[in-house]
Amino acid sequence: MKRNEFLMLISWLPLTTTAMSLSELNKLTSTLEASDIMPVLFVGHGSPMNGIENNEFSHSWELLAKQIQVPKAVICISAHWYTKGTKITAMNHPKTIHDFGGFPKELFEVQYPAPGNSILATEASKLIKKTTVGLDHEWGLDHGTWSVVKRMYPHANIPILQLSIDYTKPASYHYELAKELYSLRQKGVLFIGSGNMVHNLGMVAWDKLNDPEYGYDWAHEINATFKKHILNNNHQALIDYEKLGKSALLAIPTPEHYLPLIYTLGLTTIKDKPTLFNDKAIGGSLTMTSVKYC
Ligand code: ZN
Repeated sequence: MKRNEFLMLISWLPLTTTAMSLSELNKLTSTLEASDIMPVLFVGHGSPMNGIENNEFSHSWELLAKQIQVPKAVICISAHWYTKGTKITAMNHPKTIHDFGGFPKELFEVQYPAPGNSILATEASKLIKKTTVGLDHEWGLDHGTWSVVKRMYPHANIPILQLSIDYTKPASYHYELAKELYSLRQKGVLFIGSGNMVHNLGMVAWDKLNDPEYGYDWAHEINATFKKHILNNNHQALIDYEKLGKSALLAIPTPEHYLPLIYTLGLTTIKDKPTLFNDKAIGGSLTMTSVKYC
């Protein structure tokens, strides 16, 4: 493995973090009044370069934003905010985090100055009964979030929040936690799970990055299995991914890029119909396969 490739690999690994009043809540209710129910998305984010490159993935994100109603706010569950306990960003001006290495200077210069929304953060934290959610003022928008939302909402005029993933908890816990946030979909909040269903960077064929047909047999096999369960609304099989055999274990060597899908599933109801998009492999062992529920 070349040095640059190694740096890219390291950059994609998850980082762990070091660590209202009634009138404000009323204000939130008035600003986030009932609206048509928002879709919920799982987006395979892949390389941070998708945030600035014009390619089929970034184009699909731009198109996606035009196909759905404009949200009043976005809450993103990014693979790259993997914490002990659950946190939500609560600052009004989240910083753009460049949580990678070995990429061009241009990528480090990206700023995405979307506002946050401390009132929505409080509202979301109160909805979650499974745990005490920390209101965070340290994090911001990592590349799992901004590489996608920057393409969807380039004017940075929609509040963007992040909800972290508690690395001490199993998939079933995340699924149940996500359910508690469902009512925000009725208030104009767009939820985006941002990860990659198949994500084994250690096995990426770096010389095959531009061949979307190239994939290891196990990657093709588990991608087909994931899609089958998504289209059949078989959430339990996806929650119990460790029972899906060796191919699942190869696809999910660590769960941080898979768990955002579990949040997306938890936020759906039987009325939501899944539509797959960006169903492509990168370097054989990473898939961009994404799903929109609406
Ligand atoms: Zn990632």
